[in-house]
Amino acid sequence: MIERKKGLSRRELLAGAAAFTVACSARSASEPEYDLLLKGGHLIDPRNGLSVVRDVAVHDGKVAAVEEAIDPGRAFKVVECHGLYVTPGLIDLHVHVFAGTNERGSYAGDNSLYPDAHTFRSGVTTVLDAGCAGWRNFETFRETVISRSRTRVLALANIVGHGMRGGDIEQDLADMEAAPTTALAREHSEVIVGVKTAHYAGPDWYPVEEAVRAGEAVGIPVMVDFGASLPERPIETLLGEKLRPGDIYTHCFAGNRRELLEDGTPNPGLFAGRERGVTFDVGHGAGSFKWSVAAKCLEAGFPPDSISTDLHFASMNAGMESQITTMSKFLALGESLDDVIRQSTWNPARQILREELGHLSVGATADIAVLRKETGEFGYVDSFGARHDGTEKLVCEMTFKDGRLVWDPNGRTRQDWRELPFDYERQGEPRWDGILHRQRS
Ligand SMILES: [Zn+2]
Repeated sequence: MIERKKGLSRRELLAGAAAFTVACSARSASEPEYDLLLKGGHLIDPRNGLSVVRDVAVHDGKVAAVEEAIDPGRAFKVVECHGLYVTPGLIDLHVHVFAGTNERGSYAGDNSLYPDAHTFRSGVTTVLDAGCAGWRNFETFRETVISRSRTRVLALANIVGHGMRGGDIEQDLADMEAAPTTALAREHSEVIVGVKTAHYAGPDWYPVEEAVRAGEAVGIPVMVDFGASLPERPIETLLGEKLRPGDIYTHCFAGNRRELLEDGTPNPGLFAGRERGVTFDVGHGAGSFKWSVAAKCLEAGFPPDSISTDLHFASMNAGMESQITTMSKFLALGESLDDVIRQSTWNPARQILREELGHLSVGATADIAVLRKETGEFGYVDSFGARHDGTEKLVCEMTFKDGRLVWDPNGRTRQDWRELPFDYERQGEPRWDGILHRQRS
């Protein structure tokens, strides 16, 4: 007969718990309280109004302390950041990353790129896919890309059920439906943060109106790529009437939808839209950033709310290149570094109502970019093949996602091999190193 195992008595349980507590506190007393300390960098954290030298400590994937001087002895790993800029992980508010379906000529296919190959090297930790998928194919996108990427991928649901698959598919008014889009956005609320309408070339307002209906129902913003410019639906009406406060106009410096008037001055409709609370996103891409438009708008006091890439197969090796190069272009146009960082961190976080992102407050997720500003002679190219010279260039030295290193091309966190035994083992520690010690996702 098998004797049934008796449970522990209350007394035994308490004794066990006490022993466990002693063991834990003994361990924590001998171990540093922080996993990682970024020492001596110039912190730019626009949400918290900081642009000043600060130490930043990280524990358990979160920002644990931001202080003038934190004792290095309190951290497991100390990374020297003097002369570098420490910023929240960058947020790229317009990318195309529904790769892998093998569909030719489609942003739900060959036109898209896998995010991790482009993000961390540019300081980006969060991207917003700008409507590659709609309600008919979003599940595939989530399963094959969003859930498998180390980059935080958020998404806009395309108002077109089939998503951004090109050609007639994106012109089909019958496949633009608020109801299933609303249901999709509710079901995937952790990752769907808005609705997209794009590339429409007809005279109707229906795509914008239906996208706004879906956005309204869920309480999320709509991003508009205004497609072809037609007299039946002028940009002034879009920005002044059709969009709601909080909706996003992307490709704001493209110039092909009358962002500039015939005399080269910015369309007053842009200012009227901003006055109402519409926000403006760069979405550089391969056809949507023109030096003359950006320069005239900035001169007239109309900077972008967010700087973003419109990353896709055709923009990545063209003038756009990357988030950090796009940011450098705005330095070349006279913006301050603090502004450029704000437009790539806290502003986009607010635009998509994800205010837990885009800053380094204590307790926030430790997504961090460490940047260097080079001075010299640099040339920058727009989507139309025109060059603008600049004297500053941002370079990404290190990126941390959830408190762990994911990009370090100069080995700033690494030890010289000659200081190690000849038979050295794999370096780094899981507490801070996400490159050599990857966590299973
Ligand atoms: Zn796009």
